[in-house]
Amino acid sequence: MKFSTKAIHTGVNKDSAYNSVITPIYQTSTFRFEDIGTTKGYDYTRSGNPTRTALEECLADLEGGLLARAVATGMAAINVALHFVKTGEHIISTNDCYGGTERLLRIYSGLYGIEVTFVDMTDLEKVRQAVKPNTRLVWIETPSNPLLNVVDIRALTDIAHQNHALAAVDNTFLSPYFQRPFELGADIVIHSTTKYLNGHSDVVGGAVIVNNQELGTRLSELVNALGQSQAPFDAWLVLRGIKTLVPRMKAHEENANKLAKFLDQHPKVAKVNYPGLPTHPHHELAKKQQSGFGGMISFEVKGGIGNVNKLLKATRIFAIAESLGGIESLICHPATMTHASMNPELREKAGINERVIRLSVGIEDIDDLIGDLNQALG
Ligand SMILES: *Cc1c(COP(=O)(O)O)cnc(C)c1O
Repeated sequence: MKFSTKAIHTGVNKDSAYNSVITPIYQTSTFRFEDIGTTKGYDYTRSGNPTRTALEECLADLEGGLLARAVATGMAAINVALHFVKTGEHIISTNDCYGGTERLLRIYSGLYGIEVTFVDMTDLEKVRQAVKPNTRLVWIETPSNPLLNVVDIRALTDIAHQNHALAAVDNTFLSPYFQRPFELGADIVIHSTTKYLNGHSDVVGGAVIVNNQELGTRLSELVNALGQSQAPFDAWLVLRGIKTLVPRMKAHEENANKLAKFLDQHPKVAKVNYPGLPTHPHHELAKKQQSGFGGMISFEVKGGIGNVNKLLKATRIFAIAESLGGIESLICHPATMTHASMNPELREKAGINERVIRLSVGIEDIDDLIGDLNQALG
């Protein structure tokens, strides 16, 4: 089956009692045993639930992985994935990762004695130099948040494997529709399903997907032991959202492309970061490893922070809000919102200055979106 068909059909047919076309919500904490040691495959919802299984089958299929676990949030997914690393081992992470990832890595290094090095992964030589004998995990996020830097997944997974380390990719920004990290050598793919996969800004969720049995067994054990699994109703919402992933991603991208071009030639805009623009420094790489450029844009306005504030207050359709990937358009100020928890020095070094504005481009009519930013820019 092709991707669009899988998005709709994988994980359904869970209801042998009534043949419901849509997967039911098994809103139960526990399952009755037939006799000692015999169940119908489920005993307790933390360990497994048929609604969640349906979502997990769908996620694994869409990413081209072997096994997926649906967890409570994107941060829960990252938390679980970091448990593949032990005390005394070393993680190399991209320096402009999601703010919550940077915070969690810092907490981990303090609590558990895990070494973390943040590097600019657009420079592969710097990544090679950061490798140590105890490097266990290379943490990749591309395109990055909020600057939309694109890094070479194939080259980075090669560096990880040459050094007996695992390579994990946070694939939240593009979804498996536009980027398939397992085909580029990744061992672990994580998602905040809160974003494009669910796509309707009405649930928080996460996923960890692996492509071999050894990691899969450990992953299942970790999710159950850590108690990170996603609630059945939330899993059902994400599964429902995924059914329209393909048409949504196409619409997000079409709008983002047009909006990026509009901003790029606006006299009050200093700089636009969108991998779909031929002027983007990583445009060729994005074309090679992605099948689309996605729906996220960031840009800098000319002048000082006053102009940023003015713009953020003046939009009518774009709501000032954290998060991304939903059907509605959002505008955000990373330095004080999504990346506020980030170490300020690292933030500056990564280029996330206070003039950067991030857009999650929704699927509204493009004329209305351009009109809104046009009036707000004044
Ligand atoms: C939102 C986000 C996360 C965290 O996900 P939550 O669902 O908010 O916990 C992780 N990585 C990226 C790239 C994100 O955008």
